[in-house]
Order: sequence, then structure tokens, then C-alpha cells
Amino acid sequence: MSQTEQVLVLVKPDGVARGLVGRVIGRAEARGYRLVRLALRQATPELLATHYAEHVSKPFYPALVEYMTSGPVVAVVLEGERVITAVRTMAGATDPVNAAPGTIRGDFGRDWGTGDIRNIMHASDSPESAAREIAIWFPEA
Ligand code: UDP
Ligand code: MG
Repeated sequence: MSQTEQVLVLVKPDGVARGLVGRVIGRAEARGYRLVRLALRQATPELLATHYAEHVSKPFYPALVEYMTSGPVVAVVLEGERVITAVRTMAGATDPVNAAPGTIRGDFGRDWGTGDIRNIMHASDSPESAAREIAIWFPEA
């Protein structure tokens, strides 16, 4: 049975600053997923409090907001059958130090000694998260 899904991907500020936007999006495009939205955006603390609602009360949250507002992000919506699982697998483990080679975080990320986890990209983790996050980043959609 067909399971067409959409997923929100963010190329985070470190990915944009390091010129990795094309490679991150290109890997998903090369696999055949369809690009349906794309925007360069400056995240605000208010927007992040909704996007990262599940993390707001965690000890790392202030550092996460600092990181995510440190420069523009590229927000993308990709579409295809089971694209959420595919893109999460491509992203790799949250901490790039633990992310497998071949994944985006494992190929392009590292620990920079900043005390936070700078890991190039975000990807929605479920159809529910994807719908919620797409509405946050693309309210016109
Ligand atoms: N994060 C962090 N420290 C932590 C856990 C997470 O700085 O101990 C950041 C990291 O940028 C991560 C984001 O918070 O990507 C969201 O965390 P989550 O556990 O949802 O990881 P993800 O879904 O991005 O793999
Ligand atoms: Mg997450």
C-alpha cells in the first residue's frame, strides 16, 4: 500500500554557514524524493519554542536556541513514500560523533567543543511531527 508522506528538513545554521545546503538537499533529491517547499529563514526564539516544544524545559534548550538563531536556516519539505524514515536514516544519530559514516551528520558533523550538539540538519520524526512542523515553517501551506 502506498504511504506518501511529507517531511520537514531544516539545514541548520552550521550547515548553511558551511555551505552544505546543496549537498544535504541534493542527497535526498538524488534518491528521488520530491522537493515541494524551500525557504531561507531566520528562526526566532518564539518559532523555536513551538518547533522544539518537547525540548523547551530541557537543560540543553537555551544552547539549542542560541545555536538555531545563530544564522539563517534552510527549511525544506520533501515528499515521497516513507520519506520520514528514509530522511531520518540519512541524517544519522543526533550526536555527529556517534553518527555512522555515510549519514549526513556522520559525514559532515563533529564536536566543535561548544558544549552543544551542532548537527547540520533536522528531520521530523513521525507523520504527526511532520504535519505540525510543516505548519510552523510554512504557515501558508
Ligand atoms: N540537542 C542538544 N543536546 C542534547 C540533545 C539534543 O543540543 O543533549 C539538540 C540537537 O541539535 C538536536 C536537537 O537538540 O538535533 C533536538 O534533539 P532531538 O533529541 O530531538 O534530536 P534529533 O531528533 O534532532 O536527532
Ligand atoms: Mg527530534
